[in-house]
Amino acid sequence: MESAIKQISRSVYAMIGPQGSTNFGIVKGSDGSAALIDADIRRIDDIEEALQLTGCSKISYLIDTHEHFDHTSANFYFSQRGIPVVASAGCAAAMRDEGGPDFERMMKPVPELYERFPGLCLTLPDVVFRDSTKIALPGVTLHLKYCAENGHSHSRGDTTIFFEEEEVFIAGDLLYTEVHPVTFFGNIPNWLTALKSLLKSHYKQLLPGHGPAVEGEQAGKAYFKKMYDYLEDFHGRLVEVKAGRQNAEDVARHMLSGTYASFGKTRMVQRNINHFLTGRWF
Ligand SMILES: [Zn+2]
Repeated sequence: MESAIKQISRSVYAMIGPQGSTNFGIVKGSDGSAALIDADIRRIDDIEEALQLTGCSKISYLIDTHEHFDHTSANFYFSQRGIPVVASAGCAAAMRDEGGPDFERMMKPVPELYERFPGLCLTLPDVVFRDSTKIALPGVTLHLKYCAENGHSHSRGDTTIFFEEEEVFIAGDLLYTEVHPVTFFGNIPNWLTALKSLLKSHYKQLLPGHGPAVEGEQAGKAYFKKMYDYLEDFHGRLVEVKAGRQNAEDVARHMLSGTYASFGKTRMVQRNINHFLTGRWF
């Protein structure tokens, strides 16, 4: 299945991942140069095709919204081509501290990529910022903001991007739309705090890390609120399970029914629960 390319504003194209897989963004400057937002080596052919179809003459920056493999595994590919990789210091630190084993684990099902891209390895960003930074292309100003509350929300690197001229907000994995989120690398209470600030942000178009793009601030707010309510509900129930007052099967059933029944990536629910119960306590 190929990702669908959706033009979400005059200069922004989103590669919407099939079945809730990762979204990538292309922001194109008036001279044809572009900033690419997130890139997964497993989907590099789709990405290259999208860059061609959208008429990008060169990539000036690759921006990582956070450290997870599905957002950063093509850092090596673009870095080898001399393209600077921009990310938060939190993202770089997380990759440095924990990225190696994760990279190996995620590559296990696709060993052929090591042959196709000799030397392929975890590649840290080489342009790092702490709280915020600005990236400019002709006609494009991107404001990058570190949003991992207390250093850890969905991930340790969570960064949002606001494209000033066309009022497009790119939320990374702080927001999932219409799909179950991956919560097991995250700290849900901190994530909830981060979402409270995001509820106040302004934009005309909104791109989540996974799931369909959203048009308009009002619809966007509703999605942020939905994400907030989902995480609050889920976390509250997990705490009850941990305390022995609810059982995990009931929580799984609840998260797959009612308002959540239409969400994609249903397999994430059980994985999130298992990780929460057996892993670190957030
Ligand atoms: Zn992701």
